[in-house]
Amino acid sequence: MNYKLLAASASHLMAKRFLGPFWSRRKWLNRTQWLSADELSDIQFKLLKQTIQYAKRNVPYYRRQMKNQGFSSEDIRSPADIRSFPILTKRDVIDAGDTILAQNFPKFLLRHAHTGGTTGAPLSVYRSLFSIGNEHAFVRRQWDWAQIGFKDRCAYLRGSIITESNLMNRRLYTYDPIMKELHLSSYHLTPEIVPTYIEAMKKHKVAALVGYPSAISFFARVCLARNRSLALKSVLTTSEALTMSMREEISRAFACPVYDFYGGAERVCYIFTCEHGCYHIQPEYGYTELIPVNGPQDNTCRIVATGFWNTPMPLIRYDTGDLVVKGSGPCRCGRAFPVIESVTGREGDVIKTPSGEEFGVTIMIHLLYVVCGAANILETQFIQDAPDHITVEYVPDEKFCADDFCTAQRKFIGYLPDDITIDFKRVKAVQRTSSGKIRPVISLTPITTEENDFPVLTGKAKVCESKA
Ligand SMILES: [Zn+2]
Repeated sequence: MNYKLLAASASHLMAKRFLGPFWSRRKWLNRTQWLSADELSDIQFKLLKQTIQYAKRNVPYYRRQMKNQGFSSEDIRSPADIRSFPILTKRDVIDAGDTILAQNFPKFLLRHAHTGGTTGAPLSVYRSLFSIGNEHAFVRRQWDWAQIGFKDRCAYLRGSIITESNLMNRRLYTYDPIMKELHLSSYHLTPEIVPTYIEAMKKHKVAALVGYPSAISFFARVCLARNRSLALKSVLTTSEALTMSMREEISRAFACPVYDFYGGAERVCYIFTCEHGCYHIQPEYGYTELIPVNGPQDNTCRIVATGFWNTPMPLIRYDTGDLVVKGSGPCRCGRAFPVIESVTGREGDVIKTPSGEEFGVTIMIHLLYVVCGAANILETQFIQDAPDHITVEYVPDEKFCADDFCTAQRKFIGYLPDDITIDFKRVKAVQRTSSGKIRPVISLTPITTEENDFPVLTGKAKVCESKA
């Protein structure tokens, strides 16, 4: 019995469901999803104004900025009036340091997290019990739309729960009986490991799978190629672009619908698909502005958003760096929520090793920054320039420490498979796309493995389930 794991899990459950406003917010969200567009706009206006007043009262950064700009909450007479407020970039947030934190929360009581860093490097963000409870209510709304109940067990195929020691021990999965979650390591995902994961999911009676499209579609392709069946209620994907072919493969492999969602640790914008596969911006979560990239007629837009609920670190008009394609409603589900066509700003190729392991953007970023502790980097780009070679280009900031980065580099190299070599290269700026975005992972090598031809691996990972 792993008491440490159980205690951590019980603490997470308490924070998400019982210490914050989870149940009251959930009840409210169940009602508001059926309101009219006008009623939702009224809610947004009230919450937006409240957020600005709160930020002015409690956050030194905004107090100073509003004073300098001569901006007052009285200037907001409709949600669109927020456009007279300046856009906040990730660089602004880094430079603001603790002045962007609300002073009515002692910092030691806040929980610290990192953003996913799809634009190259993660950002430190903070939460309170209030914001955790609210966030969880929105997450459960999404689970409701995907037909996943509180009693259903979910498997996760993403990097965030894999600790350094788990990675060192090549631990493949761990089951959390309190949260009813089976965490599978996406770092060790190879064709040979897939049957082990399927058995673990069957053993723990998993109903749904949540994770990165790159990892889940790889899993699905192996299942289809090897005729390994596993029926689930739903699959939920996030953090990376989900293509139509990925969606089709996943749906076929697990005989269920695929739901996709976009969010972020900054807690400003939340988008997820409904029962009809339509992407909906969640209007009670934040005020989302879609700003056309190339003039007013362009349907491709940047997401700039103001979150309503993360009170320890309110972000007003935060530029997420992500792009969406505008859609048109209404949706057949009957909700008046804004509709978008697709989330396009999260593209990144997959790093593929000669032995068949695949690493998507989210895994690479998480591994370098969170697991290996790289810090003070402004931009990163992983470029696979040969089947067995990656160049990691990085842009340091003024606090950069070469010795610390060398330590992180060594750890990072140690975690990747032996059949791929890595070089780090300091640059002034990493490559941008024509729309100015950073593609964090670029593959310059053609993928030669045929869909049905997965290589047989040496399988150096060992099966090790924690004894929870
Ligand atoms: Zn819908």
